[in-house]
Amino acid sequence: MSSADGGRVRPGFRHGGGTVKGFVHKDQFPRPNLNDSLEGEIQAFLTDEDQLHTYDDLTKVNPVTPTTVLKCLQARYNARVFYTHAGCTLVALNPFQPIPDLYSVDVMKEYHCAPQPQELKPHIFIVAEEAYRNVQGQLEPVNQSLVVSGESGAGKTWTSRCLMKYYATVAASSSVVKSQDIVGRIERRVLDSNPIMEAFGNACTLRNNNSSRFGKYIQLQLDRSQLLVGASVQTYLLEKTRVACQPANERNFHIYYQMIKGATDEQRKDWKMPCGQHFVWLPNAEKTVEEDCFHETVEAMVHLGINAERQREIFRILAGILQLGNVNFSPSTDESQPYFLQRAAELFSIPTEELQLALRVRTLKAGKQSVLKPCSQTECSMRRDCLAKVIYAQLFEWLVAFINNSICADKSMWCNFIGILDVYGFECFQLNNLEQLCINYANEKLQQHFVAHYLRAQQEEYVSEGLQWSFVKYQDNQSCLDLIEGSTVSVFSLLNEESRLNRASDCKMFRVRLEKELCDNVNISWDKFSKVPHFTVAHYAGKVNYQIQGMVEKNKDPVPPELNSLLQKSDNSLLHQIFTDKETDNMTSKGLSKVTVVSKFKNSLESLMKILHTTTPHYTRCIKPNHDCKPLTFKKEEVIMQLEACGIVETIHISAAGFPIRIPFTSFLQRYGLIAKYSNFQSESDCASKYTLSLCPFMDKFVLTLLAFVSQLDLLEDQRNKIL
Ligand code: ADP
Ligand code: MG
Repeated sequence: MSSADGGRVRPGFRHGGGTVKGFVHKDQFPRPNLNDSLEGEIQAFLTDEDQLHTYDDLTKVNPVTPTTVLKCLQARYNARVFYTHAGCTLVALNPFQPIPDLYSVDVMKEYHCAPQPQELKPHIFIVAEEAYRNVQGQLEPVNQSLVVSGESGAGKTWTSRCLMKYYATVAASSSVVKSQDIVGRIERRVLDSNPIMEAFGNACTLRNNNSSRFGKYIQLQLDRSQLLVGASVQTYLLEKTRVACQPANERNFHIYYQMIKGATDEQRKDWKMPCGQHFVWLPNAEKTVEEDCFHETVEAMVHLGINAERQREIFRILAGILQLGNVNFSPSTDESQPYFLQRAAELFSIPTEELQLALRVRTLKAGKQSVLKPCSQTECSMRRDCLAKVIYAQLFEWLVAFINNSICADKSMWCNFIGILDVYGFECFQLNNLEQLCINYANEKLQQHFVAHYLRAQQEEYVSEGLQWSFVKYQDNQSCLDLIEGSTVSVFSLLNEESRLNRASDCKMFRVRLEKELCDNVNISWDKFSKVPHFTVAHYAGKVNYQIQGMVEKNKDPVPPELNSLLQKSDNSLLHQIFTDKETDNMTSKGLSKVTVVSKFKNSLESLMKILHTTTPHYTRCIKPNHDCKPLTFKKEEVIMQLEACGIVETIHISAAGFPIRIPFTSFLQRYGLIAKYSNFQSESDCASKYTLSLCPFMDKFVLTLLAFVSQLDLLEDQRNKIL
């Protein structure tokens, strides 16, 4: 068996942090006697199609090709097996229907209590448990990150929720587990952050009924005894445009539908939302999804400490936005009856005339003088939409901050964390704009982290250790990232420059500059004859066309100052607070008000990457088996594209041919110290700096057998010495 044949090694847990120097290559030892558990390894050599569904690790498939991997996954899916190891990653296939007992507390306990969870069936709980055990580390605690990726609807949010529930169960103090009563406890509150954030940040889209329209990184804080004592959440780029503009056949954020479906008569009256009222910004209200559960959101709010008065303020603000959506600025509108505007103003607790003025008239500053200029109909609509978006986005930010206040433990109480990353998947629509560029950029960044961490680092380590290793090719996406975010000339730098210049024909100029300055870059192209001006970026996951129109404006994301100052005057104390805080924030951080959308996003992603680099990552790749979200339906063409996009075959090759088990040298000495005198290893100081020890699984068993044998010899020798 050579390492290039995709050797079938079943990767087990990596034992803790630091790698160990010196190695034992699986080819350098004779094969030990095969016991029962190794029978499986032998099986793996056979490409027996009937048995494909039994391969719980794709590294066992022979040969490893996109087709064989696909076949194996399909066989498992048909056999209702949804998790499969793929070397260092876990592949999760979405069943699109609840699977009874797959995530029950009993199953959690089974994985948590197993001496070797990796010997149980592949499951997201193996990843969870591995991270949980790794936190303790061999030598020192190591923070962990669980990175869940996949396209929209693949199951990232579901998986993240499962992971959170797992920790809320296994890392809860024993009194909680016994009583099963966790209401009011931190574990409950951490879980309750989900329905609130999903209600405000998720929406029904064409690709997923519960599509997350923001990215999320939650850090679960663990104390010295590994109990969950708190959590903190960081969110990324909420798709706020959705509040004022919903793509065809999609919906606004869930919370609105929850409100109209779940409100009591009294609440409807208070929110000026009579039954049967039509709201322009609430399309497809007749479509009911599972997430339309107002009661659950309110209950979670109560658990997190949002009192009734605050809730009322929140819902009145939301209702005000809905009324705003019905405001029409067409010349035929009867000015004397600004019905919806009046309702919006009442709900926002601001004077109607001032709202009307802020929407219809622009204040131009000329030196110390101010000049009032009436807005065109289009400008009025833009100001209306802008008002809705800024209010919604600020409200969301306030909610996240509130949740953090409620669930974050004092720094003195926790020492380690397990982070769970659930960000929007790669997006490619017919028309893509700045939002998709940011989302796809985030996915490029994550892919690069994966590539750097596993594919490149692992192979470089093998080479540096002098292993005979034929390099497995993988797609390095650095050049695409340079194109998007590079500091000299890149799409982002040009976009920012255009935004700063603030010129009228920014779309045209941006296009000209892109073509001129980036013409040599192979990752970008143009279709000069296209009616819609756009540029095409070759992402690792495929090519995406980005519409140029509107991109610079979106990047500037301007909020007319009149709107800001108007909201500060609100008698709704929450609205007043969030807009007063916003201004203070902007003033304190040098010119932050001028920070563009892409700069802000880039900075927040870079902070995230810094955190990820300091943690031990675990990757789960969620796969969407069919684009129609049909239960238990596997479409090969759709799956293979996703497998290719995330480079799963390369990952399997490297994992299969590599040395998946690494044991820190000190642990190795502790474990196999007895045989040290028969080997070259004399002491840790002799070896630790020079060698890495990497064992394939059966070698681990082999050394153990050897150890047992040697210890017998030792005993015999002792006895012989005694007798003599
Ligand atoms: P993503 O976050 O990747 O866009 P979701 O996690 O929201 O996707 O999953 C989309 C839908 O798929 C969920 O609403 C749920 O109905 C279904 N789903 C995902 N994972 C599972 C699972 N493991 N078991 C059952 N249903 C699932
Ligand atoms: Mg999601």
